[in-house]
Amino acid sequence: MTDCIFCRIIAGEIPSDKIYEDDEVVAFLDIAPVNPGHVLVIPKAHYPDLLALPEQLAVQLVIVARKIAPAIITGVGAAGFNLTLNNGVVAGQAVGHVHLHLIPRFKDDGRELWSGQPYPAGEAAVVVEKIRKQL
Ligand code: 5GP
Ligand code: ZN
Repeated sequence: MTDCIFCRIIAGEIPSDKIYEDDEVVAFLDIAPVNPGHVLVIPKAHYPDLLALPEQLAVQLVIVARKIAPAIITGVGAAGFNLTLNNGVVAGQAVGHVHLHLIPRFKDDGRELWSGQPYPAGEAAVVVEKIRKQL
C-alpha cells in the first residue's frame, strides 16, 4: 500500500469529494479549503512535482483546470480564482504528488496575496543574467 495520500484517494482507499475524472486526471475538493469550492487537480499517476511530470500531463492538468473553472466559479458564485502550484517543501508543498490548487475568489474575501518589492538598482540585470545562462 502506498503512503501517498493522493494515490490512496485515486485508489479509493480514502474518500474524496470528486468533481471531475478522466483517464489521466482527477479533481476533488480540498479537505481544508481556502474558500468554498477550493479544488485540487491531480494526475492519476504519481509524480512528485511539476518538473517530474511529463510535459503532456502538465498540459492536461491545466486543460482540466480551465475546463472545470467556470463550473466551480458559477457553482459557488465566485468572482474569480487563483490557480496555484506549490513546488517543493520550501514553497509550501505538503503533499508530494503534484497538484494544482483552483481557489475560488470572492470580493473582499480577505485572502491577500503576498506582496513584492522592486529590485535595488542594477540587481535585475544580475538576476536575469544568472537565469539566462542556465537556460
Ligand atoms: P500543498 O500544500 O501540498 O500544495 O497542498 C496540499 C493540499 O492537500 C492542502 O490544501 C490540504 O488541505 C489538502 N489535503 C491534504 N490531505 C487531504 C486529504 O486527505 N483529502 C483532501 N481532499 N485534501 C487533502
Ligand atoms: Zn501519489
